[in-house]
Amino acid sequence: MKPKVITIVGAGLAGLSTAISLSRRVGSKAEVYLFEDHDYIGEELSGDACSSVVLDIIRQRCYVEPHNKWTRSRFNKIMVHFPEGNKLGRERVDADIEGVMFDKTKVERDLAKVAKKLGCNIRIGHMFLDGKKTKYGFKTAFREKKTGRIEHHKTDAIVCADGYASKVVRSIGLMGKEFWDKIWWPSLDLGLQTRLRGNFKDIFNEKGIVIKFAENRPSEYFYVFPWNEEEANVGYVSTSRNAKTIDETLDHYLKLYGYDKYEVLQQKKGKFIPGQGPLFKPYWEGLTVVGDAGAQVEPSFRAGIRLGVEAGGIAGEVMAEASLANNFSEDKLREYHARLQEVNPSLNHVKELRETKEIIEKVCYRRNIQKSELTLMNMYFDVIRKYAW
Ligand SMILES: Cc1cc2nc3c(=O)[nH]c(=O)nc-3n(C[C@H](O)[C@H](O)[C@H](O)COP(=O)(O)OP(=O)(O)OC[C@H]3O[C@@H](n4cnc5c(N)ncnc54)[C@H](O)[C@@H]3O)c2cc1C
Repeated sequence: MKPKVITIVGAGLAGLSTAISLSRRVGSKAEVYLFEDHDYIGEELSGDACSSVVLDIIRQRCYVEPHNKWTRSRFNKIMVHFPEGNKLGRERVDADIEGVMFDKTKVERDLAKVAKKLGCNIRIGHMFLDGKKTKYGFKTAFREKKTGRIEHHKTDAIVCADGYASKVVRSIGLMGKEFWDKIWWPSLDLGLQTRLRGNFKDIFNEKGIVIKFAENRPSEYFYVFPWNEEEANVGYVSTSRNAKTIDETLDHYLKLYGYDKYEVLQQKKGKFIPGQGPLFKPYWEGLTVVGDAGAQVEPSFRAGIRLGVEAGGIAGEVMAEASLANNFSEDKLREYHARLQEVNPSLNHVKELRETKEIIEKVCYRRNIQKSELTLMNMYFDVIRKYAW
């Protein structure tokens, strides 16, 4: 039998963990391709705070031993600040959670090396343009950025890992224009971040990371994630589409805390983050969706690293099994979602996670909140703590 061809689009953490998990399992029995739009791997943008469980997931699902250079520091709480006078009766709520400052750029570069060694054919500088379902699988087209040449590529199955605006999902017709316009696009939030050198001693020595929900823009927040006593990722997550407003808001906070005087190690850079919580169905015949492409991001704090890596590891497993069984049917690939839900129950509570985000908004707006709502919020804070960070 001719070896199956499986194509992953997007070499972020989700695509790379899929590539390793899949390549390791299929060996020479299938050809694995990973296409990446950028002409490099390892994007320098993310708050980089995540649960230390991510390291275990990489170890268990991808069989890669985490390098000690992947983590810069550890923290044991998230210090969540709500605006003064809120209906919670206190401004700061500490969520006990063990986490790490994760050098996402380095991890991505290292994972790409492992994937390559395992035989994954990595094609950087190739942008997915279009795809069509055919009798045998999919016919896809990529543009090689350097030459402008269009490459046609036949594949039996696809893993969509191309981030918040997945062209794969849209072009194959899984997300109609109406869904994109009315649901997906409005729910994208924008994260704008800079890296600073200055005095972050107090926050670092408290062994925490800081999230400050904004006063008049509920569900938006300013964050400070320290790498050490002197360096931190500092940013703002906004629901607005207006780049100028977001830039001004981040400047406002930088000034408020005196960070505007600090040395800028990395200029401000922004990127969208899906904010509506994971897709209810991230698989179809011949296709699985992982990471931001499937909005696998916890909606209140927009944490997507853990879910993306977990989804990639499991999608790799299931795609490998499907390939070896010569069966990429929707029924078979449903297993991907089922296993992901089993290990990560936050995916079974998308509706409640969205409601939690609304309750946080009410708290920030100082609107009345019912006791039952607070109970729900606390319950899902626990879920967020256990399964998203
Ligand atoms: C400012 C900011 C701060 C954040 N902070 C945190 C945090 O502290 N903790 C946390 O857990 N999460 C955080 N997140 C979210 C987290 O970074 C993402 O959820 C996660 O990295 C998503 O990984 P991914 O692999 O799904 O997507 P991505 O990392 O976006 O990877 C998608 C890849 O697909 C490629 N691609 C896109 N289109 C195409 C195409 N047409 N053809 C080929 N390739 C394509 C892209 O170039 C990219 O490399 C943050 C996000 C932002 C923006």
